[in-house]
Amino acid sequence: MTLTPPVGAQAELTSQYTGSVMNTFGPPKRVFVRGEGVHLWDADGNRYLDLLAGLAVNSLGHAHPQVIGAISAQLSTLGHVSNFFATPTQIALAEKLDALVTANAPGLPARVFFTNSGTEANEAGFKITRRTGRTRLIAMDGSFHGRSLGALALTSNPAYREPFEPLPGDVTFVPYGDEAALAEVLDDTVAAVILEPIQGENGVVEPPAGYLAKVRELTSAVGALLWIDEVQTGIGRCGDWLASSASGVTGDIVTFAKGLGNGFPIGACVATGPAATLLGPGSHGTTFGGNPVGAAAGLAVLGIIERDGLLQRVHEAGERLAASITALGHPRIDHVRGRGLLRGVVLTEPIAPAVADAALAAGFVINAPRPTVVRLAPPLIVPDAELDRFVAALPGLLDSV
Ligand SMILES: *Cc1c(COP(=O)(O)O)cnc(C)c1O
Repeated sequence: MTLTPPVGAQAELTSQYTGSVMNTFGPPKRVFVRGEGVHLWDADGNRYLDLLAGLAVNSLGHAHPQVIGAISAQLSTLGHVSNFFATPTQIALAEKLDALVTANAPGLPARVFFTNSGTEANEAGFKITRRTGRTRLIAMDGSFHGRSLGALALTSNPAYREPFEPLPGDVTFVPYGDEAALAEVLDDTVAAVILEPIQGENGVVEPPAGYLAKVRELTSAVGALLWIDEVQTGIGRCGDWLASSASGVTGDIVTFAKGLGNGFPIGACVATGPAATLLGPGSHGTTFGGNPVGAAAGLAVLGIIERDGLLQRVHEAGERLAASITALGHPRIDHVRGRGLLRGVVLTEPIAPAVADAALAAGFVINAPRPTVVRLAPPLIVPDAELDRFVAALPGLLDSV
């Protein structure tokens, strides 16, 4: 199947886009006008299977009726108040997130700071680390933590960092997954170690088994905070509430965003134990963070994942998807990695961007975080039949480039 290339309404809208929007993302590959469940429609009327979910955002698919209902009900009751005040919705979401983060350490105190995005959640985390009385931070090679200056200082990609230097300082990068390399630079001058449980932007890279527990042990030994960035991996994406929870650890700081609001912008920085009280009155702030509409979206997402048993479903769907791609035995597929419904298809040649373009032309939205890796992050509700349709098309897509 090949769809109409963007010639009609899309071509016109693309030209308007490039004439009005800053060119930070390159020209848009498509202009989408509608979404429902796991499908998207472009401005020329073509339908796509969304296997990227707004980059791990639309966990419950597009236009989920209950999320819409929760957002509309909150918006028509109380849409916003300043952070001089609170709302029951915000408090309810705070309690839920704190409980999720401390699930491996019941009774451990936790507090949340709400934001509108992942990078802002990490800025809040960054400020918490500065309140430890130490300034050194350790981040990982291959990391991605966001584009604002603090989060960028923790992001390893030189192409993202270098044009904006000087960035907030005292950050050391070590190889991801290498506990000996971490142990070598870790001492009691280190405020925090930040890592992703799976590096999504780096091409869905997982550390060796036992690594997270070891990092927990090493950081605790020197009184450094363990800061886990769950912005992409959290809220069920990898089959657990937190991708890090299966390893039994509890972070001192845990950040969330992408999957939390199903598209409504919301992020959260949860801190536990002594870190939970390092930011006091006046030390940080936000106008929109904690907005009750965002909180209503977050509560709806958490409630639906729980009610529909989606964590178990994500485990099963993810395993089945990986197994069926592996079973293709295609010569251009090296292996499939990742967990739950965050998967990287590792190719034997640097053709992933071309494969993603071919997929789009055939009606599948995927992406290529690395030249050799295709990333799949479909809505958590994706039916097996839709995943099978993609797997059946994949050999043809790989052969076509
Ligand atoms: C996307 C992402 C961020 C940044 O989130 P934004 O909402 O784009 O600011 C931070 N950390 C990780 C791991 C991410 O994947």
